Amino acid sequence: CGIVGYVGSDKAGDFLLSGLRRLEYRGYDSAGVAIHGGDTFHITRAVGRIDALASSLGQNPVDGPIGIGHTRWATHGPATQENAHPHVGGDGEVILVHNGVIENFQTLKNELIEKGYAFQSATDSEVVAHLIAEGLRVTPETAEDPSLQYVQAVQWAIAQLRGTYGLVIAFRDQPDLLIAARFGSPLVIGIGNGEYFVASDSSPLAGCTDRIVYMADHQLAVLRPQGFSVTHREQGKVTVQIQPLEAAE
Ligand code: GLU
Repeated sequence: CGIVGYVGSDKAGDFLLSGLRRLEYRGYDSAGVAIHGGDTFHITRAVGRIDALASSLGQNPVDGPIGIGHTRWATHGPATQENAHPHVGGDGEVILVHNGVIENFQTLKNELIEKGYAFQSATDSEVVAHLIAEGLRVTPETAEDPSLQYVQAVQWAIAQLRGTYGLVIAFRDQPDLLIAARFGSPLVIGIGNGEYFVASDSSPLAGCTDRIVYMADHQLAVLRPQGFSVTHREQGKVTVQIQPLEAAE
């Protein structure tokens, strides 16, 4: 339902929580955030209001330079803490939030279970997390460009999806990299100074930046504090149009 993501300096948590609050108007049944605490992503999920999530986060405070968050409107699996996003793939190396519906999730899930992947939730979304982990296994590392293996793993995984997705993906071992991918479910990038924001609509970005980019279907964005790039499945590298936030509203 609602997505937020942040990569930049050491304060992902504030944006994630305030962003999720600004997305509350869309409705949701549960929520969660994952923030990199230096070693790995720390995940907090709660059924019900963002206030419940904020109070759990307050009990185990963690903040860091990168994080993702989600408000869920359940389509596959009931509104439980286990089914709330973010979801984890592989042995924790992939972490993501997803809006939309993966129509062929059961087929993909069966194949991944056969390969040894262990599922923690009943969602269609968790399939994408494990599929990207499998993508990392089948994609070689590239010495010159460490992002490339991650981008290719995501491309490999989303090429197998039928359905709709707005995805924001982070990696345990790349605490300065977010990848966003869109098909049929909106995503907006906010450009800051040495920091990037991403959200499922522009409302969380107000006050954070006034420069935004609306992603189009089949686009994939690579966000690092030093810069960002967008590619399209068929067209390759895309020159994006940066819009002022006010004019876009
Ligand atoms: N299909 C996913 C789920 O049930 C995402 C739902 C949403 O867009 O919030 O978890």
